[in-house]
Amino acid sequence: MAAAVSVTGPITWAPPPMRSRELERRLSLPGPRPEAATALVNPSLSDHGNGLGRGARGSGGSGGSLVAGRGGGAAAAAVALALAPALSAMQRGSSERELAARWEAEAVAVTKALAAAEQVRVDSGAAGEPERKTPEEQPKDPAPAQPRAAEEGDARVVPRPPPTLPLAKPQAARARGLCPHGKPRSKGRGGRRSSGRAADEYHSQRPVTVDSSKARTSLDALKISIRQLKWKEFPFGRRLPCDIYWHGVSFHDNDIFSGQVNKFPGMTEMVRKITLSRAVRIMQNLFPEEYNFYPRSWILPDEFQLFVAQVRMVKDGDPSWKPTFIVKPDGGCQGDGIYLVKDPSDIRLAGTLQSRPAVVQEYICKPLLIDKLKFDIRLYVLLKSLDPLEIYIAKDGLSRFCTEPYQEPNPKNLHHIFMHLTNYSLNIHSGNFVHSDSTSTGSKRTFSSILCRLSSKGVDIKKVWSDIISLVIKTVIALTPELKVFYQSDIPAGRPGPTCFQILGFDILLMKNLKPILLEVNANPSMRIEHEQELSPGVFENVPSLVDEEVKVAVIRDTLRLMDPLKKKRENHFPDIYTDRKHRFPPVSDRMPSSQLPVVRSQQLTKPLAAKEDPSDSEPASASDGNTDPEAHLPSICLKQVFPKYAKQFNYLRLVDRMANLFIRFLGIKGTMKLGPTGFRTFIRNCKLSSSSLSMAAVDILYIDITRRWNSMTLDQRDSEGVFLKSHTNRT
Ligand code: ADP
Repeated sequence: MAAAVSVTGPITWAPPPMRSRELERRLSLPGPRPEAATALVNPSLSDHGNGLGRGARGSGGSGGSLVAGRGGGAAAAAVALALAPALSAMQRGSSERELAARWEAEAVAVTKALAAAEQVRVDSGAAGEPERKTPEEQPKDPAPAQPRAAEEGDARVVPRPPPTLPLAKPQAARARGLCPHGKPRSKGRGGRRSSGRAADEYHSQRPVTVDSSKARTSLDALKISIRQLKWKEFPFGRRLPCDIYWHGVSFHDNDIFSGQVNKFPGMTEMVRKITLSRAVRIMQNLFPEEYNFYPRSWILPDEFQLFVAQVRMVKDGDPSWKPTFIVKPDGGCQGDGIYLVKDPSDIRLAGTLQSRPAVVQEYICKPLLIDKLKFDIRLYVLLKSLDPLEIYIAKDGLSRFCTEPYQEPNPKNLHHIFMHLTNYSLNIHSGNFVHSDSTSTGSKRTFSSILCRLSSKGVDIKKVWSDIISLVIKTVIALTPELKVFYQSDIPAGRPGPTCFQILGFDILLMKNLKPILLEVNANPSMRIEHEQELSPGVFENVPSLVDEEVKVAVIRDTLRLMDPLKKKRENHFPDIYTDRKHRFPPVSDRMPSSQLPVVRSQQLTKPLAAKEDPSDSEPASASDGNTDPEAHLPSICLKQVFPKYAKQFNYLRLVDRMANLFIRFLGIKGTMKLGPTGFRTFIRNCKLSSSSLSMAAVDILYIDITRRWNSMTLDQRDSEGVFLKSHTNRT
């Protein structure tokens, strides 16, 4: 039957744009998740001070379906497919009401199907699915060529081309007779190979090598970090492979086939305002209470009518409600193009929105103020690994202050950017901006100084930290499904390629009631450690910024320490030093409870979330020990592991992640994000979804149908998103 099917294209991971609402509804979980004016009230999404929580927490544009937004990723594909029987029933004309009644039942069925499919090994032979080969059997060609990112200063990233089959590429190190870490393959004396022991010794003693040639604006902080670690920097790159590659923009800054790179493929795309909003919305639909830390958002222009209808509905119910909304262009950063509106009709629809999609978001009108000023928090988060998921949070971050005393928005002050927007890049132009050499005063301070101040006023800062940690973990969980598909596409399992890690910048606002709200995630948080100072009118000079240096150098240096590829070898080679170091301190449970938490300088904190012992809880080692511990002179690591440390509390949220794993499994070993017709059949078969009402012939037709729709939608989407890819480093 498969042979008879003419397939117009593969099913891709990329979920449909929100625009095709009718189609989304048909492809999505059937159910009542009403859209437009009849939006379901979701009382568990809290009111962020704007009043929307009182009524219309509709399921948002794409309906309350996993297939909804772009961020639906694998979930979109997997769930749509898993619900094929329901889908066909829907197409046969089931009424909305009947389908609504089946919503819950279908959702349960999907979860069961997923669980079943996760158990089942893919019967690859039967369906023609290429069998997973052992690593030795894998083609040895390196990863496919990647498009290079735009040069620095260019606000755009070259749009990611659709994934294609890998092209044959010249062999990397191996072809040049190099071993993976760049050491020429030793022929040994008389042509004999050196022993493994000698190689181990070499690796345990040589410095870690870092290619900083693409580091761009993080170069200064990176250089200091490398110097502190006594590692070896290659500022102009290196002919031989390095251990670590530091990229300033994206994974694709350079072609790499080994080592570690500080960017994940697809991260830049995933944290764009629209994509992030969609990814979080998927989770809000599944877990409304858990994800109520993100303001209600609508995607423009696609969801403009829905936005208008939902606002009208709440206003009708409560005429005293006077909301404010913030419009943020999708590709923007540093406050670029942002404005506030009191009414949907004030949105500048003409022209710009068509060419520049945006997110309109509930404006948090009751932020916590310090010195009467609004401020936000930039926290640095290390995604150390995607699979298994490992997340670290920096103990300290930055707080960026507005420069005009805050007032709740009213028609007269809506355009006062120094009052409403906390961006450093904007406020630096205010006459009120205060540069300070102290980390606890001025317009940019350390977050720990803020916590100290709050603590002195009796605020429960343990709770604040605990909420922030939850927010970070949940946000990363929302991003991981699609990131995994990007990863699989760029670095297919079994092919040579680097491993990835990434420092993310989380922008968080504290509400007056101390609840943290996620504003956005930056894939390229600024790591600049200097700022511009106007010496005389029009004459600027870059001067070191102490607060930036204190926070950012520690983040980069300690990220490198955590990623150190030779640490294991050194530990094996010098066990005494490391054992000695481990034993120098009492076990975590015997120490100050604050060791479990990001430390607020002298604050003594108790742990907010139940956790296992954190291996990163290393204390400062004293340099006077006289040993050769290379980290003896360094302070304790400023990055605290939060996942898997708190995995138990959050694992139940990883439902979409499991769907992504399933989707990836059916993608097979190709570097692709697309599920072909055979993979689709295998998927249906293995999930035990085919039955008398869904024959394989119907499956093939369904495949063609979905593919056609999908292709036309992604074309639309590419047209509208086109060049507006956020790429450049934000100034912070
Ligand atoms: P950009 O990437 O352009 O900096 P952000 O999403 O970070 O865009 O928004 C810029 C600033 O606007 C934030 O730093 C914050 O001060 C303010 N802001 C953004 N979203 C909201 C919101 N929903 N409620 C209140 N203030 C917000």
